[in-house]
Amino acid sequence: MEKGFLPRENLSQLHAVLCQQGYKVIGPQVKDGAIVFDGLRDIADLPWGIVEHTEAGAYRLEDTGDNRCFAWNNGPQGLKPWLFKSQQTVWRGEATSDGIRFKSEQPSPQPLAFIGIRSCDISALYLQDKHFMHSAYADPWYTAQRKQLCLIAVNCSRSNDTCFCESTGDGVEATYGYDILLDELDDGYLVDVKSERGRAITAALPLQPGSQQHHKQAQRQLKNARHQQRVMPDAEQLLKLLEHLNDKHWQDIAERCLACGNCTLTCPTCFCSKQEAEVEPVSGEHHQVRYWDSCFSEKHGYIAGMQLRGDVSQRYRQWMTHKLATWQAQYDRSGCVGCGRCISWCPAAIDIVAEANLILGDDHD
Ligand code: SF4
Ligand code: SF4
Repeated sequence: MEKGFLPRENLSQLHAVLCQQGYKVIGPQVKDGAIVFDGLRDIADLPWGIVEHTEAGAYRLEDTGDNRCFAWNNGPQGLKPWLFKSQQTVWRGEATSDGIRFKSEQPSPQPLAFIGIRSCDISALYLQDKHFMHSAYADPWYTAQRKQLCLIAVNCSRSNDTCFCESTGDGVEATYGYDILLDELDDGYLVDVKSERGRAITAALPLQPGSQQHHKQAQRQLKNARHQQRVMPDAEQLLKLLEHLNDKHWQDIAERCLACGNCTLTCPTCFCSKQEAEVEPVSGEHHQVRYWDSCFSEKHGYIAGMQLRGDVSQRYRQWMTHKLATWQAQYDRSGCVGCGRCISWCPAAIDIVAEANLILGDDHD
């Protein structure tokens, strides 16, 4: 289908149509010095003119003063916190004279429309789908919310210094998984529609036919973003990490790694969790609560009375070899979508691309 064009002054109508169709609109905005996704009350709250600059251990915003609102690449979150929540009650229990009465915790999803989602985050969503919806034990809270998502994706017009999604096969251009796809141009947005849900939204917008110039500009931007990317070894080369389990390099990383777990929290595909029993002080009701956990936490490796990964070098090795190598057998691809978040949000400036290249050394030439 021909792509339409939405002039910039009409972007607010996209927000209005989403609200009219019953969605809560979630969009990028600047909070506490970062781009985060949150309830978007007005198009004016989008990060107009903002780009981010990233490097290992650093993330900073710049106000360029231009008229674009999607010129940035990413912030510390993907879609993960909205579907796999950092804290989820999984059941409740009440002490009665007949023993404990269990109560299930029902999902309470709502229609959410995300504006500004990138290709890497759609790939991460599909990876989390495999784990939370299509594995032996489907997660009811994730599954219920997943069915109520409307995704308005945006192609990247640039890459920041930690992006490598082209190497992971995900790329700066969204090709699947969205309802509507935008290319942000100088004077507006090229609009592509993928789903019936998307068509119901764009039918209510004042779209014009996209011109040849619009298409050319969109292609130039994608080419520009591709050329700015870093290079990670490919999936086959990454499997060779498993031939390096006893390298000294894991110890070198452990001397820098704080085992803080930031990399796993910001990673849009990580899914480790733990459960804790909590008691409501007034009612005495018992809550079984699931929290995000990290393979960097000491307790996460404590299983059946044994500490399996007592040393930080073992925990980093577990994270990297699982993410990049053993995921391939588990989920048919590596667990990394090349977003670079674990690099920029690591307080010790540990860089997964640089470390993988160092460990593989000559193996991947
Ligand atoms: S690699 Fe960085 S972010 Fe990850 S646990 Fe170590 S110090 Fe924290
Ligand atoms: S491992 Fe790092 S670069 Fe890869 S998906 Fe996770 S946060 Fe992004």
